[in-house]
Amino acid sequence: MTSIGTSVSGTLAPSAEPFLRLEHYTFGVGDRFAHQAKPQLRAFTLAAKDRVEIVPVWNKSNREHTIVGSKPGSVLKAAEAAVRELGWKKPFHIDADHITEATVGAFLASSDYYTIDVAAAIGRPAPDETVSAFLMQHPELFERIDLPGCDAPLNISRAEANQTARKYLFAAQEAGRIYRHIAATKDNGGFITEVSMDETDNPQTPGELLVILAALADEGIPLQTIAPKFTGRFNKGVDYVGNLAQFESEFRSDLAVIAHVVKTYGLPTGLKLSVHSGSDKFSIYPAIYRALRDTKAGVHVKTAGTTWLEELIGLAEAGGDGLALAKEIYAEAYAHREELSAPYAAVIDIDAAKLPTPAQVNQWSPEQYVNALRHDQKCNEFNPSLRQLLHVGYKIAAKMGTRYLDMLEACEESISRNVTANLYERHIRPIFLGT
Ligand SMILES: [Zn+2]
Repeated sequence: MTSIGTSVSGTLAPSAEPFLRLEHYTFGVGDRFAHQAKPQLRAFTLAAKDRVEIVPVWNKSNREHTIVGSKPGSVLKAAEAAVRELGWKKPFHIDADHITEATVGAFLASSDYYTIDVAAAIGRPAPDETVSAFLMQHPELFERIDLPGCDAPLNISRAEANQTARKYLFAAQEAGRIYRHIAATKDNGGFITEVSMDETDNPQTPGELLVILAALADEGIPLQTIAPKFTGRFNKGVDYVGNLAQFESEFRSDLAVIAHVVKTYGLPTGLKLSVHSGSDKFSIYPAIYRALRDTKAGVHVKTAGTTWLEELIGLAEAGGDGLALAKEIYAEAYAHREELSAPYAAVIDIDAAKLPTPAQVNQWSPEQYVNALRHDQKCNEFNPSLRQLLHVGYKIAAKMGTRYLDMLEACEESISRNVTANLYERHIRPIFLGT
């Protein structure tokens, strides 16, 4: 049963509790070639042995499907097979990641989690009368708001609220339109809704997040996760670049804003932050762990391409034909580095001068290849430029088709070992166990 609450302004608030509730701790994994769901799931079973319940969410965006040439239904199929084989009894979800109105159609049958991406609508001005109606309805936004656990209260001026509403109201309405479009084809509330605003130029402040969430509540979206853009750089597959103290304080303020909007606007009680990490933001994991521990808040952390890089590591480690294929993929990625980087320009920083030539890489031992690629910042052979190039180079492997997939199967032992260890040791433990 969905319940209807009343918001502070006296209007009807959204259906407060969605039918399908997202669990407290969830972790998003990507599996570009649909071969690693089982070793990925094994990492969650290891966490369960540590008595931390983390529910897996397999995410794949339309962009990834297009580049790989896969169909959305394949993600569910691979997840179901892994769940069956490992006897996983807890829930799991399939995230249609970064969908828009134009791309959602293909995901309606097989996903139960929708990440509605409204980044492109940010900054498109809402009509003046919509902005003033919103501000009239929400005088509480300009009152001093004390945020438990934060250094300073939120004091949003009318001018700031006006500016934020101008910038984000149209995007919030767009999210509402897409949500209702999905809801029309799904059972009553039988899916999870996330709204993402991370793929944009500027981070959102906690004050902006408050205004955005009020607007999303007005749209009647039973929102379960929100993905803001945080301060600092979240480049794909490499560590965070930015001010760690500022990140931690902003993250805690965002958690407090979420607790506040749940009480004030009747958004679902489980509403939580979704961190679109771009994978491997190791240096902010301790801050996330501490904030969750102190506030008891839940979180969703989304990772992306690390699993594909673990496939390459496993191929290299296997030596022989596996290593040869991993070298061939590097050579091709090197030759097409500009074209491969273009769609990811905003989220990678490759220093071309630091890329080894294919001729050099062809001389490498398995260990040299693994050391250059594996994200171990203590290893002096680690090469972040090579790692980022390979991260965006999955199109090369996709083009190889069955040649690549057959080699994944031939080198299954070393690949699955690396996939599980990477997720469990480098991500799950530091974020959820603090170790
Ligand atoms: Zn994202």
